[in-house]
Amino acid sequence: MKSALTLLLFATALPARADDAVADFESPDSAAEWTAMDGSTERIDEGAKSGSGALLWRARKDGARLATKRVKGDLTECNSLRGWIWLRGTVERVVVVRLPATGGVFWRKFAVRPGVWSEIVLPFYQFRSDGVPRWTDVDGLEFLIREGPSQLVLDDWRLTEGGTWPAMEPTTALEERVFGDGEHSMALTENFRVFTDAEMNARDCADRLEAGLDRFRKVFGLEELPLDYPVTLIVRRTPEDFRRTAVETARDVYGGELQAPKADGFTFMDYSFGSWEAASGARRPTFLHEACHQLVSRMLEFRGDAGSLWIEEGICYLLQNDFYPQENLRQQALQLIEGGKATPLEKFDAKLRMTSGALDLQSLLIVRYLVKGPNAGKWSELHAALRENQCDLLASVEDAWGIPRAEFEKGWEDFTREWATEK
Ligand SMILES: [Zn+2]
Repeated sequence: MKSALTLLLFATALPARADDAVADFESPDSAAEWTAMDGSTERIDEGAKSGSGALLWRARKDGARLATKRVKGDLTECNSLRGWIWLRGTVERVVVVRLPATGGVFWRKFAVRPGVWSEIVLPFYQFRSDGVPRWTDVDGLEFLIREGPSQLVLDDWRLTEGGTWPAMEPTTALEERVFGDGEHSMALTENFRVFTDAEMNARDCADRLEAGLDRFRKVFGLEELPLDYPVTLIVRRTPEDFRRTAVETARDVYGGELQAPKADGFTFMDYSFGSWEAASGARRPTFLHEACHQLVSRMLEFRGDAGSLWIEEGICYLLQNDFYPQENLRQQALQLIEGGKATPLEKFDAKLRMTSGALDLQSLLIVRYLVKGPNAGKWSELHAALRENQCDLLASVEDAWGIPRAEFEKGWEDFTREWATEK
């Protein structure tokens, strides 16, 4: 098992190259580029990791921050951030590294043991994100201490260059981490990486996902928008391995905790997972559904509680159903509308929790109306409004299309009823 961060104790740091050192604190200028919030900084000579200077950061309380603009701009030529930390005192602390960027923030937490030099190595693919930040547009570097007061000494922080897709876990590292010595196969197409230890054709699965992406691009007018790096799907042969791989990936890649998923597929940050079954093989509908979650978050960039957005589920179910039509969908749709079980459309915003099959179905039907109904040609205006209005459906429809709320709700019901009763 690969650990999320590497601690090399008492090892010697390589000398920083002049052009890539973010902070070596050899000169007073280097220390002056850092600002402490709820704390103070001091350049010290004694006890540096290398050379003659280090930065002592006194964090006064919980959430205290240390920030610099030394890291800024396009980081896509780099693949990791690394440096040394010494924690004074006797109690382990959790530090969060943050890289604010236009549209959001990348972040990664790590634990520091007291009384030793720890080398912290943070590959970019191990960063999580809030919002939709971009590696092309980073605006600073921050350290945040979860529990203060604390005193930390920093030395020799730098960016490492290299790699083709810095935001993606390298293939060999993933194979080693997930499968160890176990037999498995992998398919890499232009936009997808599929890994599996099941008796299925990974290439067939990846080709199916490419077809799904083509459809997705057409429906949402995204023919020209490239994916910066391939979408990763890991399919495990047994449900137990699938659940374990999801939990371990969250822990070992992102340093996060995850409850074992209950469904047959699951997506977390840049990873989709699926459980294999012989009957549908490489074409299990959930594989496309889960990969679609990543397409939505990377290409449509809605904001709200990650993973629980009604619009994201609706889009994933719609795409899934376009490729693998569910037999009794029309009947279910009719029951939802005629049985009075539909949720009022005013509830569809970023706060809506997707907690039932009925909500999944209704989200599919709403998205279907948005992209196949009378206003389908005006999706891009609605897309902008949904992003602006926290995915509030009726506010966005009013803003983008000028349709009064009640009228839209009736239009959706009529459209759905007509389709559901079609012979
Ligand atoms: Zn889903």
